[in-house]
Amino acid sequence: MPEDTSIIDMFVTHLSAGVAVGVLGSLIVFAKHRQEVRKLRAENQQKLIELDRTSKTLVRRDFELSQTLETLREMDQAKTHFVTVAAHQLRTPLSAVKWTLRLFLDGDLGQVTVSQTEYLQACYETNERMIKLVNDLLNVSRIESGRFSYSFQEEDVLPLVKEVLGALANTAKQKNVELILEKNEDRVMAVIDKDKIIMVVQNLVENSISYTPNGGKVFVTIKSQGSKVSISVKDTGIGITPEEKKQIFTKFYRSEGAIKMFPNGSGLGLFLSQNIALRHGGVIEVESEVGNGSTFSVVIPKKGPMGKSPVKAEMKNFVQGNNHI
Ligand code: ADP
Repeated sequence: MPEDTSIIDMFVTHLSAGVAVGVLGSLIVFAKHRQEVRKLRAENQQKLIELDRTSKTLVRRDFELSQTLETLREMDQAKTHFVTVAAHQLRTPLSAVKWTLRLFLDGDLGQVTVSQTEYLQACYETNERMIKLVNDLLNVSRIESGRFSYSFQEEDVLPLVKEVLGALANTAKQKNVELILEKNEDRVMAVIDKDKIIMVVQNLVENSISYTPNGGKVFVTIKSQGSKVSISVKDTGIGITPEEKKQIFTKFYRSEGAIKMFPNGSGLGLFLSQNIALRHGGVIEVESEVGNGSTFSVVIPKKGPMGKSPVKAEMKNFVQGNNHI
């Protein structure tokens, strides 16, 4: 019996020691965990403070940015207003000069000699370029302030193009550039703003004449292509590099070659023309190779920008307040 008791005692002693070691181990692990949890909490707290600081900075920056944006918008409006006023002020005297020169050139103010006529003609052409520049600036201002109004009607495109070619025949002749009209139908109807499309065709043909050396050719082709009309102007001129092609529709952009060949351009024509094509639901496409000429094609839907009947297109304009100013 006493032997049995000592075995039990030993067993109990060992068991207690084992439990004690186990409990001690658990306590150490628990203490370590608590320490880690405390550390993580402290780190979290720090991150929350940083986050709060960052979000306050962001709110402040957002406020500063919207203030800057507002200032820029106001400056832009002031610039557009200035250009509009200046252009309007210039237009009146330029018109007066134009009509006075016209009276001299037509002999209405008495006979002028041949050499005087040459000087007067040169003055007249310079004045015309100034009037075009002023009108382009006014139109850009109108586009930027949302006041470039449109009036859509169903029209035959062919007579419009013929009108432009007629008006530019003399300019082409002076440069010994041949203007050639090609068409695949006798009537090509489309819902357009006639005056704006005239502006686009005039700009493209004028460019082709300006950037084509003497003796070159300009082909103007009108094509009816299913639901679309395409007016393309192809020349045998200096051409455009791929780099220049990316920029030619940007306001005031002019390539070096273009400046050398025709110093008087404004770099506004293609910006205006692309805007007009887009407003018609179309686009201007360009194909060109340096030294081998360029082709600019205006492609617009026959049914107009809304793809609807002329009456509905007109009504939508009216509702949007887009009719003639
Ligand atoms: P501008 O002709 O007054 O310079 P545009 O906006 O009409 O202004 O044209 C922008 C530029 O695009 C021109 O300066 C020229 O570099 C290029 N460009 C336009 N049409 C032609 C063309 N037919 N051939 C070669 N370059 C052209």
